[in-house]
Amino acid sequence: MRVGFVGWRGMVGSVLMERMRAENDFAGLESVFFSTSNPGGAAPKVAGGDPLLKDARDLAALASMDAIITCQGGDYTSAIHGPLRGRGWKGWWIDAASTLRMAPGSVIILDPVNRKVIERAIKEGKKDYIGGNCTVSLMLMALGGLFERDLIEWLSSMTYQAASGAGAENMTELMKQMAFLAGECQQVMADPAASALDMEKQATAALRGGHMPTEKFGAPLAASLIPWIDRAVEHGQTREEWKGSAETNKILGREDRPIPVDGLCVRVGSLRCHSQGFTLKLRKALPPAEVAEIVKGANPWVRLVENTKEATLAQLTPAAVSGKLEVPIGRLRPMLLGPEYYTAFSVGDQLLWGAAEPLRRMLGILRGG
Ligand code: NAP
Repeated sequence: MRVGFVGWRGMVGSVLMERMRAENDFAGLESVFFSTSNPGGAAPKVAGGDPLLKDARDLAALASMDAIITCQGGDYTSAIHGPLRGRGWKGWWIDAASTLRMAPGSVIILDPVNRKVIERAIKEGKKDYIGGNCTVSLMLMALGGLFERDLIEWLSSMTYQAASGAGAENMTELMKQMAFLAGECQQVMADPAASALDMEKQATAALRGGHMPTEKFGAPLAASLIPWIDRAVEHGQTREEWKGSAETNKILGREDRPIPVDGLCVRVGSLRCHSQGFTLKLRKALPPAEVAEIVKGANPWVRLVENTKEATLAQLTPAAVSGKLEVPIGRLRPMLLGPEYYTAFSVGDQLLWGAAEPLRRMLGILRGG
């Protein structure tokens, strides 16, 4: 199989490369690497890989691939996918960007949750397989058991999304903001007579002083947060919030009888991992032990974390979860709102199950895995 990789050096792409190397996925593939910024440069070294980068805008070169995996982003997909299909290319298009997710001919891929939907689409001859929104995929991995049994009447997810979810340059900006803040506060922190309030005032002055690098996020994220992700759509939602309901129901193949999903999406200063606080209304009252059993049995990656301070601090933070395929869910308890209401909190590496992992597994499915 001749596979083209586009966007392999971005946040998602570099995690995809790591995972494919770790799982020996390159063996038996003829891998060709493309670039939008450095065609002719050296390609990453992998078994069976072409040594030079090809031009990611060269349609003829792209058309010689059996499959293309792109983590380059939505603008690239918008510019290339249509013209490539237009010239009759019938290969597999596997994409991390949102552009094609809701297109009727495409499938949103999250095989531990919707393998049957994927297999049906392959049989029907569908060729576009698109990774889901990161928070949606992680929510479905965490709550898949309840969805599978159709126990959820509605769901609200309030998110706490990492800087790297916005891409490599945004994550770099957060690191620069942290360094800037540390620099601005160095003197006050070294002063033994300075109080915590003195430090806060110095830091707040730095946040508001206009010199912090904010070109990417548009506002300070370090020592702050931004309750807005992506652009505005209808009903006062952001597009990130709109994806909650639209993509969940498409992944589950139940667009004709959708489960309402809504909430606020917030960017926070974690580097990697999206966290979410859930409010669930179940279709019927269920005892906590039964809900816990259903949640933890959904797939091999979901981990139920005991609702204690010790377990939460040790297992349910971005610091603990970054770089891991496990999707821990904790703080699970019935709410005082009524016997059908539950709350829970989940943390998942959005670069793994929220992005790269479904892409590499899709390639595996196409290779007969
Ligand atoms: P990204 O880090 O911004 O990378 C995209 C491209 O930007 C790279 O392939 C590279 O292209 C270029 N680039 C420019 N400066 C770079 C730098 N300093 N380091 C690395 N690459 C740089 O984007 P991404 O976060 O991987 O997202 C790719 C797609 O996946 C997007 O559509 C996004 O919405 C989607 N997605 C992202 C996440 C996530 O958590 N980040 C999760 C799910 C889906 P060239 O090599 O051609 O220059």
